[in-house]
Formats: sequence, C-alpha cells, structure tokens
Amino acid sequence: MFLRSLNTFKLTVLLILFSAVLSFASSLSLKVYYGIHKDKIRIVLKSFANKPIRYKVFSLENPYRIVIDLKKHVKIRKVILPKGFKYRVGKHPWGVRVVLIPPKEYSYTFFSLKNPYRIVLDLKKGAYKAVIAKTKRKKVFKKKLDKKVVVIDPGHGGKDPGAIGYRGIKEKWVNLQIARYLAEYLRRDGRFKVVMTRYGDYYVSLGQRVRIARKHKADLFISIHSDAAPRGRRWARGTQIFVLSKESAKRKKKQLLTNSQYALALFRDARNAKAIPILTDIGFEITLNRSREFARLLAHQLQKDFGRRHITFKGIRSRGFAVLKTPGTVSVLIETGFITNPYEARKLTDRNFQKKFAYSIYKAIVKYFYK
Ligand SMILES: [Zn+2]
Repeated sequence: MFLRSLNTFKLTVLLILFSAVLSFASSLSLKVYYGIHKDKIRIVLKSFANKPIRYKVFSLENPYRIVIDLKKHVKIRKVILPKGFKYRVGKHPWGVRVVLIPPKEYSYTFFSLKNPYRIVLDLKKGAYKAVIAKTKRKKVFKKKLDKKVVVIDPGHGGKDPGAIGYRGIKEKWVNLQIARYLAEYLRRDGRFKVVMTRYGDYYVSLGQRVRIARKHKADLFISIHSDAAPRGRRWARGTQIFVLSKESAKRKKKQLLTNSQYALALFRDARNAKAIPILTDIGFEITLNRSREFARLLAHQLQKDFGRRHITFKGIRSRGFAVLKTPGTVSVLIETGFITNPYEARKLTDRNFQKKFAYSIYKAIVKYFYK
C-alpha cells in the first residue's frame, strides 16, 4: 500500500517541509484559471504584474502530473481548475512549484503571453497517451485518482462496552453514533470510500480492526473513543487526539523486519525482500509525520468549530495503541470527551452535538486530502 503511494508521500512530505521551513515574502502573485475549448483545455497562470517569470514545464509519471516550476518566489493566490484536476503548490529555495494532477494523461504545449504576463498551458483533448494502457500502471493510476479510502473505527462494541459513564452511558454507543454521522458526511461528499470496522453493536477485536484497515488499503484510519475518569474525578473533561508514538513505531518496525514473511505479506508489492528495511524506515517516518499532520488539522478544526466553551481541547499525544499500528496507514485516535463528566456526557449523547462533532472531523479530512 505505501509502496504505491511512496512517490506521492515523498513529494508531499517534501512540499510540506519546504513550505514550513521556507516562507518567503513575495509581492508577485499569480492566479490560476482555465478555459475549455473544442480541442483543448487551456490552463493559465496569470500574473498581476507584467514582469516575466522564468519557468519550466515537464511531466512526471505515477500518477501522471504536470509540473510548472516558477523560478521566482511568487504567491499563488487563487487556483481554479477543471473538474477532476488536483493540484499542489510547494515553496522551494529557487521559487515555487505548481503540480497539476489531471484525471488522465494529456499531451500539452506551453508558452507565455504579455500584458499582463501569463504562462499558458494547452492540454490537447483526446490525445490520451498509450503509456497507462499497460495494465500495471493503469492500476496504480486508477488507485491514485480513485476515492480516498477512510476507515472509521468506532471503539469497542458488543460484549465490550468500553467505558461506562454518567447515568450508565456506554462508550460503545457514543463512538458508534459519531462514527455513523461521519461515515454519512464522507459518503455524501462522493470523494471517499468509507469503511467502518463495525457497523453495529458487535464485538470486533483490535487485530481484526487493523486487518480491515489493511485489507481496504486505508488512506486514513480514524479510531473514535470516549474517555472515562476514575471515580472521584467526575469533572475530568476534554478532547484528546492520539497518534502512534515514535517508540511504538520503532518497535513495530523491528517486529516486521524480524519476521520477513509477515513483512512480505504486508508489502506484497515489494519484489525484493532486501528493499524492505529501507522502505519501512521511510514508510514509518512518513506515516508518522502524516498522522501528526492530520492530527493537527483535526485539532485546529475542532477548536475552530467549537471554541473553548464547548470543548476543552487537551492536545495531541503519542501512545502505543494497537489500532494505530497498521503499517503505512495514516492513523489517529480521538477521545471525543469524558462520558463520566455529566456536562460532557450530556453533549456526547446529544444528536446535534454528535453531528457537529462528526462534521468537524469530516472537514478536517477534506482539508487533509484536498487542500
Ligand atoms: Zn475506548
């Protein structure tokens, strides 16, 4: 699973690194828009000034993407692209890289215009390159542009009620309700394939949950739980997000490497067993970073949507939870709140609050994948 996405992972991580480390003040800004013509799709990078910009255009494979390197620290102000097109913008020491990911391969031409300065990219319609006709590539290509797979994991269930809260509220119910609303929002969106580790009130082991994530090649795994405080700490409260700790990730990696059969089963795409140690190293690092990135987005979204009065956000923590250990899968666990706290319990059992909470998670997911 992560082998397939490694390139994109690498690229994204690089882009994130670069944009985080290097933020340049720039006065020059660009707008990206498009026009659909009979024989072509024209994509225009329009500058608001008349100064020419040095640039380079080339394409990359797997997934097919067109790269426009602008050798200047410009600001991309607005991007409007045809349906099905995705894009990324990354800052680099030498300038700005705009990556367009069209839904299929196009042959293209490019040139620049003056007054105001514009870079024009013409994608020829119908000129579908033969490269991706090869079955294997086609598969990779399809997987990349298909729906993002989100596995939602409502904690506990069946004989395992999870925490028991205020007035006998069972954690397994709260988790499932929020998970169901989240699944509904994601399905309605249309860009996601949603899988739940349980759809009702029945028992699913931790191992099974991980297997479900792996089987469906989850792009994102979200485990939903609710907290409980010991007796006498009735007023303990707050929302927390967990990602796998580095130590646990290391331990898991070791376990994989010492069991090459298992490793091979996991990374079935790897033809060469020798490649696995290196790949897992990169894989684990990237997965952890991406998980943290999603956790931050989620934290931000929850705080923005609820404000301090309605939820108490207690931060992002690292733990060795079993469900966070699916190799190559970006995973977080959210503790929605304390069902032992009468105030939070009332909210967590309220349908509107559950919906709002689920919607907030949904928004964070959209931001994570598409912004
Ligand atoms: Zn729990």
